[in-house]
Amino acid sequence: MQAQADAWRREGQHIALVPTMGFLHAGHLSLVRLARERADRVVVSIFVNPTQFGPGEDLEAYPRNPERDRDLLEAEGVDVLFLPSTAEMYPEGYQTRVSLDRLPQHLCGVSRPIHFGGVATVVIKLLHIAKPHLAVFGEKDYQQLLVVRRMVRDLNLDVEIVGGPTVREADGLAMSSRNAYLAEGQRPAALTLSQALANARKQVAEGERQAAVVIASAVATIQSEAETAIDYVKICDPETLEDISEIDRPVRMALAVRVGHSRLIDNTALLPPNPSSSASAQGETP
Ligand code: AMP
Repeated sequence: MQAQADAWRREGQHIALVPTMGFLHAGHLSLVRLARERADRVVVSIFVNPTQFGPGEDLEAYPRNPERDRDLLEAEGVDVLFLPSTAEMYPEGYQTRVSLDRLPQHLCGVSRPIHFGGVATVVIKLLHIAKPHLAVFGEKDYQQLLVVRRMVRDLNLDVEIVGGPTVREADGLAMSSRNAYLAEGQRPAALTLSQALANARKQVAEGERQAAVVIASAVATIQSEAETAIDYVKICDPETLEDISEIDRPVRMALAVRVGHSRLIDNTALLPPNPSSSASAQGETP
């Protein structure tokens, strides 16, 4: 892979990398298309990275179908499918790990304490292997996108990080390889995540500024389905992920909910009405 990347770079070709864990869906393919638009050569990696899974998580159960993935990527005109083995990525004697101080202390990092260190480590390895000019990540994993951007800035990596919007099913459910774990009857429970976020967007667009009020509505929406168990529902600063209490600027809402065996995550921007329209809206309120 490195030799191929060096050859492309000598020819002046622009390389894009889309890192994935496979079992591809339309969300992944949207990132591949973003990569295609921005680069001459597209590399997609598929690697279910063991170092980002904690004990008792779904490493063994994680869905895999490399043949189908290969066909989908071929149809997208991807140049290289990079599919390393765990032994190639972490050979005997391997002992290096990248860690970040603060971003992983929020949201998913609380219940998955080793996750983002594992992500940062495998991403920096993939960047050094595929040598891309740009790498594309989904906003679906918003905290991951921030972690990668932060690492690239902090370690002066010469690569542009591009974020792609979340692709959803027609009913609003954010596409995820882990949706494969959902039983038919669990769909209504899974849909509460996107419903809670859509309600929150509306509440904030209509002028609600108290994060606690918006969070309480989201919790009620999610708990209206018996099969849900909330890990977190947060409204936070879109850069630091620190909790915020007053929504007086664009912020991020993120949630993680267990539905049966699946742990689902989703997030959205919350945009308060702009000052002029909120002033006029207040003026109209008796
Ligand atoms: P994964 O295979 O789940 O590790 O995801 C690989 C990449 O695809 C990550 O950058 C994810 O954020 C992104 N991704 C996953 N689901 C979606 C989605 N529904 N829409 C857009 N991007 C996604």
